[in-house]
Amino acid sequence: MIIGVPKEIKNNENRVALTPAGTQELVKRGHTVYVQQTAGVGSGFSDEEYAKAGAKLLADAAAIFDVAEMIMKVKEPIEQEYKLIKKGQLVFTYFHFASYEPLTKAMVASGGVCLAYETVERVDGSLPLLVPMSEVAGRMSIQEGAKYLEKPLKGRGILLGGVPGVKPAKVLILGGGVVGTNAAKIAAGMGADVTIMDLNLNRLRYLDDVMPKNVHTVVSNDYTIRELVKESDLIIGGVLVPGAKAPKLITRDMLKTMRPGTVLVDVAVDQGGCIETCKPTTHEDPTFIIDDVVHYCVANMPGAVPYTSTLALTNATLPYAIKLANLGWKKACQESMELRSGLNVIEGEVVYKAVAEAFNLPY
Ligand code: NAD
Repeated sequence: MIIGVPKEIKNNENRVALTPAGTQELVKRGHTVYVQQTAGVGSGFSDEEYAKAGAKLLADAAAIFDVAEMIMKVKEPIEQEYKLIKKGQLVFTYFHFASYEPLTKAMVASGGVCLAYETVERVDGSLPLLVPMSEVAGRMSIQEGAKYLEKPLKGRGILLGGVPGVKPAKVLILGGGVVGTNAAKIAAGMGADVTIMDLNLNRLRYLDDVMPKNVHTVVSNDYTIRELVKESDLIIGGVLVPGAKAPKLITRDMLKTMRPGTVLVDVAVDQGGCIETCKPTTHEDPTFIIDDVVHYCVANMPGAVPYTSTLALTNATLPYAIKLANLGWKKACQESMELRSGLNVIEGEVVYKAVAEAFNLPY
């Protein structure tokens, strides 16, 4: 198969859909990989590395779209890319269709085949192409939180791990899923006193088994959250209710009960946030302050660490890309339920129920 990897052009997007290592794996199997010049530079991969791995480099995106049977991207196509997608061309990337009608209509009009990373689903309901970004965001939430706890950045001025003779900081993590577990691991490693809250008792049992002694598990409810926020230095929001907006677990009135300089990192901000006072921010201007409480609510946290994020994402997408390239999308989707669940649009028709329902389109 002929595979094309264009450079990402969305504002501040430095990731790339395929690494030189991934290129080599595809080329080794007899496929042809075209990569747009400088596509990997933002993630630390030079054109020379791609060429060495067997890729052919092309100067512009139009040439890539023109020649490829499968386009591999990171972000959804943006307006200037819409017209480049050809009838029958497979596009394998994050789409998040339900949140943007013009994109859905443009992809239907293009006649392309859209296989969305975010809806590739395992039998157990897990979403293998979303997990890596939650791992990155979870770990990063503590790194960012620790930074904003510093006094010059308006935090309480407390060191997460404390020092001999001085208590460590208290970290409260709402949600013990992928984000929460990764946050807890890093916070515990830095020596903080960590509490994870979740509704799922079995999940808390598991976390209690595998986490070190400085991580405690507590069942999530409004009463307990109200008590714990008063004494927490850093609070991480990592809650998800699949298919719904995140519940507001931290309400505006709770801010007044927190200590000045407390830091809130709402990772769940991309699903509306689990902290009432959070609104999406960017890496250029990541924080704002309400009632002396620092809010960090960046909606695309992994974008700040493109090297790690690109490798994490491509580790997860590559096995699927290989299957698609080896078999073609029709046969690959017949054989793999996971890939089949990724199909959102096929040559002019929406084939994913939630997307069709979101915009009243035929399904
Ligand atoms: P997950 O499904 O693995 O975990 C969510 C957890 O929340 C589950 O364990 C669930 O039981 C728990 N939960 C649900 N309701 C709760 C409640 N009332 N109290 C306590 N816990 C509750 O999800 P995840 O992969 O960890 O993702 C969490 C959120 O982070 C999602 O909204 C995801 O989109 C977001 N995310 C954001 C970024 C970013 O850059 N901001 C990056 C990656 C993921």
